[in-house]
Amino acid sequence: MAPDQKDPVRMSYAQTVTAADLRAHLEVLASDAYEGRETAKKGQKMAAEYIKNRFRELGIPELPSGGYYQNVPLEEFLPGNGTVTAGTQSFSFGKDFFYTSGTTDQNLTAPEMVFAGYGIETKGWKDYGKQKHTGKVVIILADEPVDATGKSMITGTTEKSDWSTQRRLKINSARDRGAKALFIVLPEYEKRKQEMQHAIETTTLQLKGVKDEPRMPVLYISPQMANALLGEKTDVLALREKINRKGKSKSIAVKQPCSIVIQREKREVITENVLGYLEGSDLKNELIVITAHYDHIGMEGNVVFNGADDDGTGTVTILELAEAFVKAKKDGKGPRRSILFMTVSGEEKGLLGSEWYSEHPVFPLSQTVCNLNIDMIGRSDPEHEKDTAAYLYLIGSDKLSSQLKVVSETANNTYCGIKLDYRYDAPDDPNFFYYRSDHYNFARKNVPVIFYFNGTHADYHKETDEVNKINFPLMERRARLVFYTAWEIANRDARIVVDKK
Ligand SMILES: [Zn+2]
Repeated sequence: MAPDQKDPVRMSYAQTVTAADLRAHLEVLASDAYEGRETAKKGQKMAAEYIKNRFRELGIPELPSGGYYQNVPLEEFLPGNGTVTAGTQSFSFGKDFFYTSGTTDQNLTAPEMVFAGYGIETKGWKDYGKQKHTGKVVIILADEPVDATGKSMITGTTEKSDWSTQRRLKINSARDRGAKALFIVLPEYEKRKQEMQHAIETTTLQLKGVKDEPRMPVLYISPQMANALLGEKTDVLALREKINRKGKSKSIAVKQPCSIVIQREKREVITENVLGYLEGSDLKNELIVITAHYDHIGMEGNVVFNGADDDGTGTVTILELAEAFVKAKKDGKGPRRSILFMTVSGEEKGLLGSEWYSEHPVFPLSQTVCNLNIDMIGRSDPEHEKDTAAYLYLIGSDKLSSQLKVVSETANNTYCGIKLDYRYDAPDDPNFFYYRSDHYNFARKNVPVIFYFNGTHADYHKETDEVNKINFPLMERRARLVFYTAWEIANRDARIVVDKK
């Protein structure tokens, strides 16, 4: 069959991938009952159960090892421990300081400390100037200088600058100057600690046994602790008043060592990748892996982050694709190569489920022809919001195999007519999407990938990423593109060739 001729057989199975079915599954998985599907939590387990039951209902057999799950062992870390000592003084987690999740364990001593104003370095305000603080603990004030009328000295208006709102800025500035640790003084310590409770209570997950490089610790400290560190005569809040009043920074050298020990609380947990394996016919030893992550970011208080687009859409697309290929197989039109429909967990915690799979593949990676990864295909980004033409970003399609992109384009031109956008393949693209979803764990093992993505939008990682904002007809077209591409790769005579590095 010429590639540009329409094949009624595959079209008939593509038509089983429907907007109505996609919606029906998504309305369950992205409902509040699933609590935002946070990795290793109740909602994620419920979602795993739903996907597993669907695979079973379709008649997909259990894995050779039994069941449908690949267990992924994790370690969960929680802020909760730590001591800072300087001279004869000792400070403890919670009472005097705290750190947020994402902080690594520490055991370090710095020979000196330095107070460096607000830790801001920008046009018109210089807390560092040319000074380096290599190896020291740098102590700075939170927020930014304001004058007597409440205007920021950075913006010149009552609006705060990014230095107050983007914590990365101050952290990077201190790190660039060689700081060994950063202490940020919170004027209203108890109140701010309350406000940051979620960031403290969120756990960090890692694959079991993986050691992480310690990162520069960032501790939020009380004014009392700052006073004690800076010396008896210093009142850090009075010092702040003085800096604000004079409109000029002030630095204080403290020639005293400071030690930081952080040992986070740790417990072992398990999450699950859910695998539906459909055996091929004459080329069954070769495999196509179609992935989407079914985990999302959980809840904050009572607010549920349902992650309808991210990545409920990819998850339910997998269910629909599995149904289509199972039907084809029942009719004797099954794929020649095997297909693994795999919904992975731990993506939002750092691509953990796919990393575990790529290190412990259930089917050999050498036999894995390609990975098609779907992560967010139900929405439009701001640029396309008013556009009626269907579009989709494809990422990585020609990075390892030039054939893969050709197959994908042919499938699209023949059956789908979606405007494919490759802008994120640009090597200088600052978003690095190629590294940011589960396909990357296949690509780094030299398995060719395509990442299907609608781009980010205002609801990305917000509680407003809801089912009622999904464009199901558009999603259906995109899901069918994945179907046609998979069909071609699964059934063509020659395996896709890896011809690039
Ligand atoms: Zn995602």
